[in-house]
Amino acid sequence: MHSDEQPKQQALQGYLADRDEPCPLCSYNLRGLQGEHCPECGQELTLRVNLVDAVRGAYLAGLIGLACAFGFNALLLVAILVMTIYFGGGPPGGFFLYLVVAAILSGLFLLGWVRRSVQIRREPITQRTVLAIICWLAPLASVAILCAVILTYG
Ligand SMILES: [Zn+2]
Repeated sequence: MHSDEQPKQQALQGYLADRDEPCPLCSYNLRGLQGEHCPECGQELTLRVNLVDAVRGAYLAGLIGLACAFGFNALLLVAILVMTIYFGGGPPGGFFLYLVVAAILSGLFLLGWVRRSVQIRREPITQRTVLAIICWLAPLASVAILCAVILTYG
């Protein structure tokens, strides 16, 4: 046990001494907790400082949008590669190159989104929302382009 663990445990027990707080995992009432584990589910508990607004909604929405675009383009690329190897033929000219570029670009944007998570979450809510909407244009555009290619080349 670290030297600062004892005060943390005392703070946790002091906080729960006269409060009805549910365990975050199993909702067991932790009032009067002794020790630092939930008596019901056995998970270790800690007392934390949290932001009132978790400021994660728009960030997560953007993350999901970019992950969808990357997953869609990368899976389509792999599927077309496998089909080309087994059945020959291949996609219409330019579409394979487009898929390579789209998969790499959406992967890079996803990586950038994850690496800049702190800066993004510090932006005002309006800018975060606009960024998240822009992120969702990527998967929507990917699906629209695939539909256009299918309709054009059958
Ligand atoms: Zn529990």
